[in-house]
Amino acid sequence: MTKSSDSLVRIAVVGSGPAGVYACEALLDWADSVGREIVVDLLDSLPVPFGLLRHGVAPDHPRIKGIARTLQEIGADPRIRFLGNVEFGRDLSLDDARRLYHAVLFSTGALTDRDLGIPGEDLEGSYGAAQFVTWYDGHPDAAREWPLDAERAAVVGVGNVALDVARMLLRTAEQLEATDIPEHVREGFAACATRVVSVIGRRGPAYAKFTPLELREMDKVEGVTVIVDPADLEYDGEARTLRESDRRVKQVCTQLEKWAAAVTEAGHGSADDAEAAALADGLKVVRFRFHRAPAEILGDAGAVTGLRLERTEPDGAQVRRTGETEDLAVDAVYRAVGYRSTPLGGVPFDDDTATIPNEAGRVLDAAESGAVVPGLYTAGWIKRGPTGVIGTNRSCAVETVHGLTDDLDDGSLPEPAEPDPRAVRDLLAERGIEVVDGDGWAAIDAAERALGEAAGRERTKLAGRAEMLAAARGDAG
Ligand code: NAP
Repeated sequence: MTKSSDSLVRIAVVGSGPAGVYACEALLDWADSVGREIVVDLLDSLPVPFGLLRHGVAPDHPRIKGIARTLQEIGADPRIRFLGNVEFGRDLSLDDARRLYHAVLFSTGALTDRDLGIPGEDLEGSYGAAQFVTWYDGHPDAAREWPLDAERAAVVGVGNVALDVARMLLRTAEQLEATDIPEHVREGFAACATRVVSVIGRRGPAYAKFTPLELREMDKVEGVTVIVDPADLEYDGEARTLRESDRRVKQVCTQLEKWAAAVTEAGHGSADDAEAAALADGLKVVRFRFHRAPAEILGDAGAVTGLRLERTEPDGAQVRRTGETEDLAVDAVYRAVGYRSTPLGGVPFDDDTATIPNEAGRVLDAAESGAVVPGLYTAGWIKRGPTGVIGTNRSCAVETVHGLTDDLDDGSLPEPAEPDPRAVRDLLAERGIEVVDGDGWAAIDAAERALGEAAGRERTKLAGRAEMLAAARGDAG
């Protein structure tokens, strides 16, 4: 009998973002360490790899985008085969994958927005941060145009995505000149009318999720001033203890306190006065507002005209709602309250947490039994929820791959019915799927670099799927 310990190991990794690529790296490391032959098929629904690194990281964060080079090096190993433009669940089913691979690892991330669940979310001018991010990052399935005519916008949520959205809304087209954004996005930003962005936290500053580096960056955006109302920086005993004991929290609070102190030091009677003075000086404004829970998005004739906020009071790590409301006049509301993963055809999914139920990366049956589903694994945001920085996905993927390779080592993964590693390409070709392989991705990469070079940039992204596929085929123009 052929045991899985004798044969070429075949693994599918579905989703080629950081978690998927780090999983590939861990699989190759394992194969090298035990001297096994392995082929890892790295599938993606997009014609290009790297997931949120390409379509989630803000374009003015090239340092983070530099991680793409590391991922590219990992992906260059011939034992990894990129199979782009393949939608799992539609082009390739779970049953297909079970016939073709010893194991399937899902790392599809999280790309949709959580809702606030308040009235008015359907109004024109009410957006999810992820929608906006996918637009400015040139995701091929994003809307081609984005309305940037709001003079005043509110961003709900005080995490790093909220910072990205606020900063990008206030960037000028010139400041984005050197970035890799597609041409239509560049043109969109050139027409952006936004002057004031309010970033809204329902709890106090000690509970903001910002990281200090990203928060401080707001001070460095040319033409933008940051305003914090000193009265907003209220701490109760628990918040004060947190502020003193947690380094990140302390740095975040200290930065916010500096901005609040500047309002008083400049002799402004209030944060509103400071805002009016900044606008009169031709500056744009970011206002951080705390202790305000979004209650309703207000509208007129189907479009956003304001955001109703309910004041809250600190109550340990939670807040008490006070019943006192205030209306913020804004023309757009962005909710940056967390991303959500979406279910994959036939794969267990917990709708409450929007994750694949798992134990250290081994997929569990969603039914009550919660038993391990042999041969299925998960890593990244769809495994643990949308938290952590890119590097967090490396340890997350390593944990999953340990489980997977332990199962391979002890022979508990059955041999797939189809032994030929070429079978997946044949199957997809039979189904008329235009697979973008490693060569196709290299051609897209070269086309984007050439487009960028012509404009004096490192890269300009191709935005549409049709353009990407044409570049992958080597079709000019
Ligand atoms: P996040 O850090 O979890 O922040 C979500 C924010 O939404 C929190 O402030 C949360 O407040 C708030 N929120 C949730 N539900 C709310 C509601 N119903 N009403 C009002 N506020 C609500 O998530 P994220 O900003 O989406 O970031 C996801 C991950 O990506 C994070 O780990 C982040 O650091 C990372 N990231 C990093 C960068 C970077 O540049 N390094 C950039 C983007 C993202 P509560 O705490 O009160 O729930």
